[in-house]
Amino acid sequence: MLKLPAALQAFANALEREGVTLYAVGGCVRDALLNRAVHDVDLASRLRPDELIERAKANGIEARIVQQTLGTVLLSIDGTDFEHTTFRTESYGTGGTHRPDAVRFSDSPETDAFRRDFSVNALYESVSDGTLVDPTGGRADLERRVLRTTTKDPAVILRDDGLRILRLVRFAASLDFSVDPGTWEAAKANAALLKDVAWERKRQELDRILTGPRVFDALTMLRDVGALPYLLPELTACDGVEQKKAYHRYDVLTHLFHTCENTPQELGARLIGLLHDVGKPEALMRDGKMYAHDVYGTEIARTMLERLRYPNALIGRVCGAIRIHMFDLTEEAGDATLRKRFASFGRERTEDLIMIREADVRGSGIRTGFVAERWRGIYEQMLRERAPFSESELNVSGEDIMRELGLPPGERIGRIKHRLLLRCAVHPEENRREILLKRMHDCI
Ligand code: ATP
Ligand code: MG
Repeated sequence: MLKLPAALQAFANALEREGVTLYAVGGCVRDALLNRAVHDVDLASRLRPDELIERAKANGIEARIVQQTLGTVLLSIDGTDFEHTTFRTESYGTGGTHRPDAVRFSDSPETDAFRRDFSVNALYESVSDGTLVDPTGGRADLERRVLRTTTKDPAVILRDDGLRILRLVRFAASLDFSVDPGTWEAAKANAALLKDVAWERKRQELDRILTGPRVFDALTMLRDVGALPYLLPELTACDGVEQKKAYHRYDVLTHLFHTCENTPQELGARLIGLLHDVGKPEALMRDGKMYAHDVYGTEIARTMLERLRYPNALIGRVCGAIRIHMFDLTEEAGDATLRKRFASFGRERTEDLIMIREADVRGSGIRTGFVAERWRGIYEQMLRERAPFSESELNVSGEDIMRELGLPPGERIGRIKHRLLLRCAVHPEENRREILLKRMHDCI
């Protein structure tokens, strides 16, 4: 049974005395039955929004409407918000927005359940006494660990809102459930419907898939269900592209999935892992080799991320890492070279570079020996030594340089600063004004 605040329980008891049952529904009931952490509790009953607000207020509970058409009301109890939706049925037009074009309130969980996506997401638990209402067989599916649509004909559910195909993949991965064969076939047959779903909605699901567990399995499902052309179309060109057997066990797409799974569970890192080699098919097509794939890949990734409406800072970070991910591929660079490059890249890109090199090697399925460990050691030593990671961290200014060297403003000053930065990357103890004023004479 769910653990709920006493004030909510008291409210449910008061409603029960009037013959109205208040239910917890959806993810919270599912997760509690699976002994997983419950993060937010959604409520439902047959009360219309205004009726609920009136009764909540009479019981000293703050309540306000947040969505008129869907009848969503927010109850605020002990500082926590609970979303209440009135039981309803929905009908959808064909194609288009994948949003319901008509919503009708209804009176029972039995009707409400069939507008929800999967049976395990359509379980209702009475807040007052914990009774479970299970109109679509969700309990049995939970026990079998299977995702199945609420309706007998899965196509109805998946056709109405293409986003449900992505939700299916997300839940399969996050719950570690299998997918009922009928549901899977219908998802495959309807994958093209994702074409009409807004990029922002698709991106929200993608973010949750990428930052969730079992990301390799989830990405493989996205490929197999046929969702990639409508989500990350440029990745489809990587499917089946073979690579040099000496360095890679997998084709490009499978390698990208493995690399993604080997990055930390954080969106930026996951996107870098997933997209770092996206330029390989184009590089191969242009010159029969893959040498310049970092350059092509940077621009292809930018197109993909802009289409998905990612913020510019994140796009800059991901593309920046893709651009430099081939740095010192032969792994021959000595300590001084590494220090200079790290200082030029700055802290964030250096951290991403080390991260992607490690994930890339792990994701190859063949290469071992982690140059990334050596790189990380050098980088951490630079941090301990307080080495500068940009010209602005030097303890001299452009003014100082102009005065000391008698030079006018111009690009030359920037070049001198850069040389001083490289010098201090190797000799951090020299980042002191009096020393730099002398050193700059050798940098002209
Ligand atoms: P979690 O919050 O852990 O991701 P959840 O099941 O609570 O899982 P939400 O997206 O919070 O998922 O939605 C709450 C409930 O609303 C779901 O359990 C499901 O019953 C219903 N629901 C949400 N989005 C859709 C959708 N696109 N189609 C059908 N039902 C949906
Ligand atoms: Mg939820």
